[in-house]
Amino acid sequence: MGLSDIRDRIARACKEAGRTPEDVALIAISKVQPNDRVEAVLKEGHRLFGENTVQETEGKWPDFRARYPGTEVHLVGPLQSNKARKAVELFDAIHSVDRPKIARTLARLAQEEGRCPDLFLQVNTGEEEQKAGIMPADADSFIAECRELDLPVRGLMCIPPVEETPSLHFALLKKIARRNGLEGLSMGMSGDFEEAIAQGATHIRVGSAIFGERVYS
Ligand SMILES: *Cc1c(COP(=O)(O)O)cnc(C)c1O
Repeated sequence: MGLSDIRDRIARACKEAGRTPEDVALIAISKVQPNDRVEAVLKEGHRLFGENTVQETEGKWPDFRARYPGTEVHLVGPLQSNKARKAVELFDAIHSVDRPKIARTLARLAQEEGRCPDLFLQVNTGEEEQKAGIMPADADSFIAECRELDLPVRGLMCIPPVEETPSLHFALLKKIARRNGLEGLSMGMSGDFEEAIAQGATHIRVGSAIFGERVYS
């Protein structure tokens, strides 16, 4: 495993799906990974990363960004209201906009800060109680509400239930996106990114398959 192996697998999956690799952004999910592993991937030329928390990003990325120009960092983990201003300042995109309250907060902060990251709205495709995301039945109205707030909504994001076939969830996400005229599909992780590419993913979020297993201390 590693970056070049994942790039090969993306190329193969794209070929099978009749797509081009340029249309699939690989977000290297660097959460919890030690800095030397992250820097090795930066040194290979990769410039698109994802993190789960504001706090970890604040500690790790200002220095890397200064040393590796052109680096983008996306937030893929849950966003709390009290961290929203920092998130607007720190991230190039947020993939976890999951409720009207946080959408309204982001709209206000975008006005105040004069900038807003690209946004993906998280859909709880498996309707799991413990999981973040808007329910599929509420997705259309949530998308409309975010647009009324003038938020830069680029697409939708999902994390399928672990025990279910991911393709069904990817297909549902795509269906909701298409009927709302949204291009972006943030879906697919280390275990299922090839299926996600087959279903039209534009952003895949791959962590452990690039960096190795995360070691939580
Ligand atoms: C951790 C994480 C990933 C990456 O998971 P891997 O299985 O290591 O590829 C992708 N998306 C989200 C939202 C995550 O929290």
